[in-house]
Amino acid sequence: MSGLHPSLCDIYEEVARRNAGEKEFHQAVFEVLTSLGPVVDKHPEFADNAVIRRLCEPERQIIFRVPWLDDSGTVQINRGFRVEFNSALGPFKGGLRFHPSVYLGIVKFLGFEQIFKNSLTGLPIGGGKGGSDFDPKGRSDAEVMRFCQSFMTELYRHIGEYTDVPAGDIGVGTREIGYLFGQYKRITNRYESGVLTGKGLTWGGSQVRTEATGYGTVFFVDEILRAARDSFDGKRVVVSGSGNVAIYAIEKVHALGGIVVACSDSSGYVLDEKGIDIDVLKDVKEVQRGRISDYVEARAGAAQFVEGRSIWEVPCDIALPSATQNEVSGADAELLIKSGCRIVAEGANMPCTPEAVKLFAEAGVTFAPGKAANAGGVATSALEMQQNASRDSWTFEDTEQRLAEIMGRIHDSCLTIADEYGQPGNYMAGANIAGFIRVADAMLALGLV
Ligand code: GLU
Repeated sequence: MSGLHPSLCDIYEEVARRNAGEKEFHQAVFEVLTSLGPVVDKHPEFADNAVIRRLCEPERQIIFRVPWLDDSGTVQINRGFRVEFNSALGPFKGGLRFHPSVYLGIVKFLGFEQIFKNSLTGLPIGGGKGGSDFDPKGRSDAEVMRFCQSFMTELYRHIGEYTDVPAGDIGVGTREIGYLFGQYKRITNRYESGVLTGKGLTWGGSQVRTEATGYGTVFFVDEILRAARDSFDGKRVVVSGSGNVAIYAIEKVHALGGIVVACSDSSGYVLDEKGIDIDVLKDVKEVQRGRISDYVEARAGAAQFVEGRSIWEVPCDIALPSATQNEVSGADAELLIKSGCRIVAEGANMPCTPEAVKLFAEAGVTFAPGKAANAGGVATSALEMQQNASRDSWTFEDTEQRLAEIMGRIHDSCLTIADEYGQPGNYMAGANIAGFIRVADAMLALGLV
């Protein structure tokens, strides 16, 4: 198998065979295994105890029916998932994704990535992920509520503050977490704040959780720049997507002196050479739940909507893919490289295809993988769990400071471990190895479970 240590080839082949058709899961496993060759050479104990093979098999996978009534009184059926991947470091932790593309292979790729991401934060959280093929687009508030209530009517028996702690992801924000929490509370008769994160500020949520993934990604890039004695000042940045991660990444880039000239949704991108107006974007996306084309109308001539084309044709110094998996193809990577882009940091989970990652490496573009660069969201979820456990709540400034410190530590440990394993400056190797070693050590200590 190209690029894999011989002892890891069998493991990958077994994963591909036992999880047929789950191509995103195969991709995520392959990417981690490509970094682990030097680790198995140095640590034969991981192979002896089948740590990597065990890591590739989720501890528990739950698939369930989610029936609900739409506004016209018609019965709708969706499929719900929760994949509890690894709890060596703490309760399973990871978001719920509501999107029509969700199937077991997507949930497993996300759950697998989450193990290493959560490990990298240094906080006591295991890895898991869940979701449904429910499409919230065009659904009324009442429909979303009925769907969430039905979803939780099954999920509640599998989760708990010491067991498994879901949160948001694509299609799941504070509104959905509210309906899910309300139903959990009703069924269990417990105000168990620590069972879900991403809650609203008046009912157990944490300051900065909404902003955390986007802010964290930008803090990570700021660390990369700082290590090169550079800064965001005057940098031209392109951020794909226009959801929760993109909005707060744009806000923080502007706060640090960079300028974000484009963002997107699945219909196309907007180009705003003076810099995306964050208030307009928030109004369009968060208040009106509209499309990115509505942004251009609201900007009355200052911005341009480019329909159906790749946002990566817009020249930039720094690219933050923050929409969804595999959104940056090899051809997109070539466009970025040609226009002089120097840093690519993943705000979304696995947005860069393997071809793109390879091209960035060959061209000397610094590449920060999502499991490091977007770990700020789940890290702040862990801070929310800490506040819930102590029935405390911290200020915005205090929480943001902790987030910045965590991102700094993740950055430094990626670089240190990459150096140690002979791949200086390789953030992908550093993230995979550092994330792996912490969880593998814990698995060895806990015995064969
Ligand atoms: N869905 C987010 C992620 O991909 C956050 C998960 C969480 O807060 O548990 O990391």
